[in-house]
Amino acid sequence: MDHSRAGTMLKRLRGFPDHLPEQSFQLDYLLSVITELFKNFDFQRVDFPLLESSELFSRSLGEGSDIVNKEMYSFQKGEESVTLRPEGTASIARMFISHKLHKQLPLRWYYQGPMFRHERPQKGRFRQFHQLGVEFLGDSSETADLEILSLVWLLVKKLNLETKAVLEINSLGSLEERKNYKEKLKKYLSPLKGKLSHDSQIRLAKAPLRIWDSKEEGDQEIMKKAPLLKGSLQQLSLRKYEKIKGLLSDLNIPFRENDRLVRGLDYYNDLVFECVSEDLGAQSAVLAGGRYDHLVESLGGPSVPAVGWALGLERLCLLCRPFQREPVQIGLLAVGEAAEKQALQLAHKLRLEGFSLYYRLSGNFSKQMKRISQKNCQWALIFGEKEIRRKEVILKNLSSGEQKSLPLSQWKKELKKIECPEKS
Ligand code: ATP
Ligand code: MG
Repeated sequence: MDHSRAGTMLKRLRGFPDHLPEQSFQLDYLLSVITELFKNFDFQRVDFPLLESSELFSRSLGEGSDIVNKEMYSFQKGEESVTLRPEGTASIARMFISHKLHKQLPLRWYYQGPMFRHERPQKGRFRQFHQLGVEFLGDSSETADLEILSLVWLLVKKLNLETKAVLEINSLGSLEERKNYKEKLKKYLSPLKGKLSHDSQIRLAKAPLRIWDSKEEGDQEIMKKAPLLKGSLQQLSLRKYEKIKGLLSDLNIPFRENDRLVRGLDYYNDLVFECVSEDLGAQSAVLAGGRYDHLVESLGGPSVPAVGWALGLERLCLLCRPFQREPVQIGLLAVGEAAEKQALQLAHKLRLEGFSLYYRLSGNFSKQMKRISQKNCQWALIFGEKEIRRKEVILKNLSSGEQKSLPLSQWKKELKKIECPEKS
């Protein structure tokens, strides 16, 4: 132990947030609402490691992606280069291959947990953040795309975000079409190279499409006149895209076409989408995804069409109005040693029955009552000296103020009233 530094406060790493109870509650609440919805769509939870081989990400996300270029937490352990997972889809594909699940297709999975990216921390952007994602493997149809998109929309509705979030969609077409488009874009950008930002000059060589993602004003000005990907799409891709749009309209799911949406990763084809909100400032995307029909194959597996999305929980939380905690149902008060003993016994039994219960028995009656009202308890169970002598307890409805004495032996019969306060 280094005693010379004793007393110096150790700092939290930048971008690695602590969550105190209120923030954890908000995140946890969101998580439960969303996972409930996933289950309604028959998505099953899977889990994969926080640490994977670095090659998994460089091969799947693309050497030119921002994640692989500059955001991965990678380190050498022995002979191996390993990386803290920056996203989930690559691991899902790896998992599918590792467990040889081809015969079990189609598969509908969801995952959730922390991801790590070394980026500049700011509002809604952290180095450790929580993602939730769904992946639908083994179905190439537009109805699969639609199901994935309708899940996005139901989520938006369920969280009352219809006025805050917009679903944007685009089509990247096939790999071949994208390759042709890349050449077209390079041709347009090459003479303008000197005017591009430093990052975009690198992108021009490695992954020119990513220049669409640039937040630099100068780059955005140049891209205003750039050829659009749409112009390189052939009949088949256009027809698929039209079909998805038609299906969305049939379900009255509002969406906006965004010709400039390309997504930052290599593995997408055809449908891509984002859920964006102006309330998030520069970090406008809260959820993003698309179709990735070639990812599994590119990692050495069979050809498996797939579609999915991921959302950032902390970012989503910024959009939602704070959720309210359910108050504790019952507060317990006891004054005097004998009363305390009885109260603790009843508390134990009530918790066994599943009631939420709060007590802090120190101090006089009014001190205890004050604490209980701060907790917003709906009911109070009061044990005084007199009640104990009579083998009774007082049950008080804290919203109406009504109270009555009950024989202690009858607490179970009275439980029903506590369960349904509105009926009492
Ligand atoms: P951005 O354009 O904001 O960098 P991205 O395209 O890198 O987003 P994805 O890789 O598609 O994001 O991840 C899906 C979602 O995960 C995002 O829409 C966002 O809500 C969340 N997310 C991504 N990076 C971060 C981060 N550093 N901190 C918090 N949430 C993040
Ligand atoms: Mg990013």
